[in-house]
Order: sequence, then C-alpha cells, then structure tokens
Amino acid sequence: MHGPGDLNTQTYPTNLDWAPSWPGGRIVEVVDTLALTLRPLRRAVWRKARDKALRLWEPAGMIFRLSERDASAWEFPGFTGLKVGESESCLLPGKLRIARSTYNAPADTYYPISWAWWTAERQGACVFFKPNKHFWQGYWFGQLVANVCHELGHCLGLSHGGGGVMSGALRPNEHDLDSVRRYYS
Ligand SMILES: [Zn+2]
Repeated sequence: MHGPGDLNTQTYPTNLDWAPSWPGGRIVEVVDTLALTLRPLRRAVWRKARDKALRLWEPAGMIFRLSERDASAWEFPGFTGLKVGESESCLLPGKLRIARSTYNAPADTYYPISWAWWTAERQGACVFFKPNKHFWQGYWFGQLVANVCHELGHCLGLSHGGGGVMSGALRPNEHDLDSVRRYYS
C-alpha cells in the first residue's frame, strides 16, 4: 500500500504525506470551475477526459458527485501558485475543486502543468490545471486522462509510487485501487 500512512520516504522519495479524509467518506463532491472557462470544443474534450479519469477510481469504491460552476465568483484573482495563501483562497471547504491556473507547477515529477493541493484542516483539495499548448497538444487523449486521474489520486490520499497511475502510468493498477479501497474501508 502506498499513500496514506506511508511515511516510507526511502521507497517513495516524493511521498507527499497526505491523508485526505472527506466529509462524506468515499463520497466526494467535485466542483469543476475549469470547464466553463473553456471554449466549446475544448470544453467537450476536457469533460470527456475528466469524466473518464473520475470513472477510473470508481472500482476502488469511490463515488463522485460532480458539478460545474462558473469560476468568476470562485477564482482567486491572479492565482500564480507562488504567494502564500493563494491555494487556501481557492479552496471550497469539504470539496474537491478543479480550478484553472496560470501557474507552471514545479512540484510534480510526472506532470508539468497540473498540481494538487490538500488541507486537512478544512477537508478540501484543489487540483489546478494550466490549460496551455502542452495541455492540449503535448498529450494524446489517454495521457490527458492519466494526468487528471493522477491528480485525483493525490486528492484521494495517494502519494507517488506503486507502479500505476501514481507512477506516471495511464491508469490505476490493482495496487492503486487496493490502496484507496483500504484507506476508505
Ligand atoms: Zn503527482
């Protein structure tokens, strides 16, 4: 098992030491404030990738309640990822928010244009995507799905490692699914 409770930073040097606990347990409310910022064709691609990525975690017993909202009232203006408090300002407590970013995330070993962040205190997570040229043209569809799935995996409590999607593979393997299953059982 990797992820929650795994502090073995020698095996997983990029262990982020997260242990998300959602108010609804395995039922997670996902609020997408990215979709409606995209133009129609790209929005359709994004929705397809997002929905597929969410479905990839369902065999682990997760249930997602998805909604899309206009970002205008929710977006932290001028989010760069570089200033203290910005992530907190983007958070919707108790929810997993997907948000748009202008930020080139440096932290993730596997994906350069996305970033996941979690706070135990307010039981919420944000996944930021920078929908730039790389996002749309640097990936084929399966890789876009994998990127989204990977960031969702962080929000469910998984760190890097395990040989599946948290190691850069295209989808969760049994190890990933079993880790989530056991974490929320
Ligand atoms: Zn990652």
